[in-house]
Amino acid sequence: MQAHSLKAEQRIIGQEPYYEPVADEIEVFEAAYDNRLPVMLKGPTGCGKTRFMEHMAWRLKRPLITVSCHDDLTAADLVGRFLVKNGETVWTDGPLARAVRFGAICYLDEVVEARKDTTVVIHPLADDRRELPMEKLGELLEAPPEFNLTISFNPGYQSVLKDLKQSTRQRFVALEFSYPDPELEARIIERESGVDGEVAGRLVRFAEMTRNLKGAGLDEGASTRLLVQAAKLIHHGIPPAAACRAGVAQALTDDPDMLAAVNELSTSLF
Ligand code: ADP
Repeated sequence: MQAHSLKAEQRIIGQEPYYEPVADEIEVFEAAYDNRLPVMLKGPTGCGKTRFMEHMAWRLKRPLITVSCHDDLTAADLVGRFLVKNGETVWTDGPLARAVRFGAICYLDEVVEARKDTTVVIHPLADDRRELPMEKLGELLEAPPEFNLTISFNPGYQSVLKDLKQSTRQRFVALEFSYPDPELEARIIERESGVDGEVAGRLVRFAEMTRNLKGAGLDEGASTRLLVQAAKLIHHGIPPAAACRAGVAQALTDDPDMLAAVNELSTSLF
C-alpha cells in the first residue's frame, strides 16, 4: 500500500518527532500557517526538511500528507481520477485533494521533478483563492483554513529544465535549509544513532571535507542523513572507516578516483 493511500486522519503524528531548530524556521512556519500562506523549503537533500515537516505537523496537530514528486507524476496523480472498481467507475481522490478536503498539511517533496501540468493545479491553491480545480470531476474544492501547502526545492540541482518559474515561486514564503552548524549537527547524530560525541564530531569533520568537494568532483557533499546512517552502522559495531565507506562514500559517488579520495579523508580521521 502506498503511504498516500492512507486516510488523512490516519496521518496524524502522535509523538513529537525530534527536530533541532537551526534558526527561526518554526516561528516563521507557524506565522505562515496562521496566515494561510504556502511555504517553500529550499535546501539540499538530507538536511532535515522532511523531519521539520513532521515536527510542524505534530506541533500544529494536523495530518501530514507527503508526496515525493518524480518525473512521471501528473496532475491527476495529485488530484484524483476515475477508476474502475468491481465493474463500476468511481472517483478516487489523489493525495492533494484528500489533504484539501481534510484540512491537512500537504508536503510536495522535490516539486520541480513533477510534470509541468502539476503547477496548474497548485497555483490556485497557492494564492488568495486557495482552491483546487478538479476538472475531471467538475468540482472546485475550497481549502479550509487548516489546510497548508508546502513544497520543497533543491536549488543545487538547478538547470533550465528543472527550475521553478517565478510565477510559481513568488507565491510562497521561502525558508532556507542548509546543514546545521557543526556542534548542532554532532548533537543530532549522537541523538539519532547513539554514538558518542567524539565519533559524531569526527563524522561532522568528515562531512565538511566532502562538502568542500562540491563542484570539484562531487555533486553534493555528505548530508546529515548520510552521517546519521554511517553513525548507526558504527553504533552497531562496524569499524568507522568501513561505515564511512559504505554509509557515505559509496552513496556520494561512483567515480573510482573520487571514491579513493573520499575514503582517504575518512581514514585520516578514524
Ligand atoms: P530532507 O527532507 O531535507 O532530505 P530529512 O528531513 O529526511 O532530509 O533529514 C535526514 C535525517 O537527518 C533525518 O532523518 C534526521 O535523522 C536528520 N536531521 C537533519 N536535520 C535535523 C534536525 N534539524 N533535527 C533533527 N534531525 C535532523
